[in-house]
Amino acid sequence: MTNKYMYFIANWKMFGSIKSLNSLDKVIRFHKYFNKKKLVKIIYCPPNILINLMSKKFKNTGLIVGAQNCHENLGYGSFTGSVNCKMLKNVGTKFVIIGHSENRQVGETNKQINLKIKTALKSGLKVILCIGETLNEKRKKRTKNVLIKQITSCLKSIKNKKKILIAYEPVWSIGTGIIPKPNDLYSAIEFIKKKISKSKVLYGGSVNPKNIKELRKIKNIDGFLIGGASQNEKKFIDIIKKTYN
Ligand code: PEP
Repeated sequence: MTNKYMYFIANWKMFGSIKSLNSLDKVIRFHKYFNKKKLVKIIYCPPNILINLMSKKFKNTGLIVGAQNCHENLGYGSFTGSVNCKMLKNVGTKFVIIGHSENRQVGETNKQINLKIKTALKSGLKVILCIGETLNEKRKKRTKNVLIKQITSCLKSIKNKKKILIAYEPVWSIGTGIIPKPNDLYSAIEFIKKKISKSKVLYGGSVNPKNIKELRKIKNIDGFLIGGASQNEKKFIDIIKKTYN
């Protein structure tokens, strides 16, 4: 049982529809009853097209809406298909995920991520920065080198880090059903916390209602970034409940 304040972030990835927003009624009811002690902060990051409707749905509920990515440009411009942080903020976004490995894998660089973080902060959004090593890097025992490189480059020249949550997401655990060994996870989180003082560090990668009992024992984790399981409201609620009892 933990009585620690925890983040639960739902990353819907490229899933969801207007109809699927109905499933959130259960989450709203659960949150109202469960969060009397204000122990959880729930942030839903749907595809951009659902942000506006979701923000309206979450009004006065305490649930928060985030985005999954943003353009690095602070202003408007001729960038077909892109959305900047001002636009995200305008429809009720409070947080934005930046540096997700699924975007890094298609070419997003640490330099771009650094620009995106600066833009998000300037626009008044909070940031969820994803970092983590690939399987190959893990096998070569390069996890800490990778983390330090990502932290240094992505946070270059950013002084105020209070509005940045870090999500440690080993790439090999995302969507695979495999989670790190408890000691490895504890030490990776501790390593990140030492490098970025006072940071909140979340874990992400195949979190589900079964493995949460093991994950919740790792005392230095400040919350979870949940992909697949967050698309099912029952599983998402179950994960939160099981974190606490
Ligand atoms: C993610 O997309 O950030 C993630 C952790 O996904 P999953 O929970 O499906 O592994």
